[in-house]
Amino acid sequence: MDAVLRGMKLSKLVAEEGFDPVEQLLEAAAADSVSPGICVNPGCSYTCEIEPDQDRGWCEACDTPTVRSALILAGLL
Ligand SMILES: [Zn+2]
Repeated sequence: MDAVLRGMKLSKLVAEEGFDPVEQLLEAAAADSVSPGICVNPGCSYTCEIEPDQDRGWCEACDTPTVRSALILAGLL
């Protein structure tokens, strides 16, 4: 995946969700945790809550498995 696009998507999540990668990682260590996720297709800004280790979540806007968790985008998992 393009590093620039990944950075843009992560920045968008940080701006819209108030997402803190380190804080989320600590929360993800707990059972039943969820993470904010965002569709990585260019031009799509679909976001949802998904499993912290999810890198093929379903985007309901694109109908493709392109939603990645913020932790995946941040390179923490
Ligand atoms: Zn999408």
